[in-house]
Amino acid sequence: MNRISLEQKSIIQKQIKESNKIAVVSHFNPDGDAVGSLLGFYNYLKQSGKTIHALLPNEAPEFLHWMPAHNEIIFHSANTEIAERIVSQADTIFVLDFNEPKRVEKFQTALAAAKGFKIMIDHHPMPSPTWDLLISDITSSSTAELVYEVIEAIDLYEMDKTIATCLLSSIITDTGCFEFNSSNPRTFEIVANLLSYGVEKDKIIGNIMKSHTEQRMKLQGYCLYEKMKILPQYHAAYVALSSEELKKFNYKKGDAEGLVDMPLSIKGINFTVFFTEQTEKIRISFRSRGTFNVNLFARNHFNGGGHLNAAGGDSFVSLEETVAKFLSLLPDYTHELNYNPLKFN
Ligand code: 5GP
Ligand code: MN
Repeated sequence: MNRISLEQKSIIQKQIKESNKIAVVSHFNPDGDAVGSLLGFYNYLKQSGKTIHALLPNEAPEFLHWMPAHNEIIFHSANTEIAERIVSQADTIFVLDFNEPKRVEKFQTALAAAKGFKIMIDHHPMPSPTWDLLISDITSSSTAELVYEVIEAIDLYEMDKTIATCLLSSIITDTGCFEFNSSNPRTFEIVANLLSYGVEKDKIIGNIMKSHTEQRMKLQGYCLYEKMKILPQYHAAYVALSSEELKKFNYKKGDAEGLVDMPLSIKGINFTVFFTEQTEKIRISFRSRGTFNVNLFARNHFNGGGHLNAAGGDSFVSLEETVAKFLSLLPDYTHELNYNPLKFN
């Protein structure tokens, strides 16, 4: 059962058919779903023969560079004027895997000023009403799953192995290899369909989940052995890394991916937080299991947002002050953190 309404389908078909220039944009610090849904839809739209561009605010981590047509992405951070000209001239702009303008950071002004028809395709809660058309479904495992629904509904061009590879990469990323957000049978119907195009699933999993450097693995060991703090009264755990510590492990973008999830493997831990000290800010990742809403926690206290069980945020005071603020907030959440119906026996 496709989730795109007939009205949404006909608007998207009309926009694609009547546009000469189409831009596809995803969010700052792109993850596997951002890049996979961006390139999946970009490769699909290229069949139209129109002028199609894939744009990102900044570069993706190295472990995503293998994706088909990654070398065709235009990065606003590196080619600011070109990216801003493309978005200003586009007749239709698809925004994928984010739902509020600030998620493109310095690209925000140009994106907001662009006159093209803006179609958001995303699975995060609380979309901003900025967009001309919203394809929003928080029950979707990933944005790529909704891109698949759009492709199936509009039925303008062909699905192929390249597109399917990008979309499956997104689903594998956002479900942590089918661990989270993947209890809906529709996800598996879509995956089965993608596999029928000859997608090499094991290769994708290898590229995305198992391509760490030696230093990254050592950083993981250091986090768990030396840095992880457990707060049993709140069923919570956190790790805070200073810029010196990150430097010691030759930290590169994307290296923190997956580290925040690890304490959730401890019985009784349902809320984990990971702080990294970056040049201009403290970047924070939040994860939870069960009912504790990290989207609201990040939104209300750390200038961020995300999903019920996975969110991110930023802090503009020191690492110590940020951690102290986090710790001072916890007593207010005692009840929510202790009342969690998802308990393993
Ligand atoms: P991560 O911890 O991997 O950076 O982010 C987890 C999830 O939260 C991702 O789905 C990401 O898109 C979302 N997210 C991360 N940072 C922000 C933020 O600052 N604002 C919002 N709205 N979502 C975020
Ligand atoms: Mn996503």
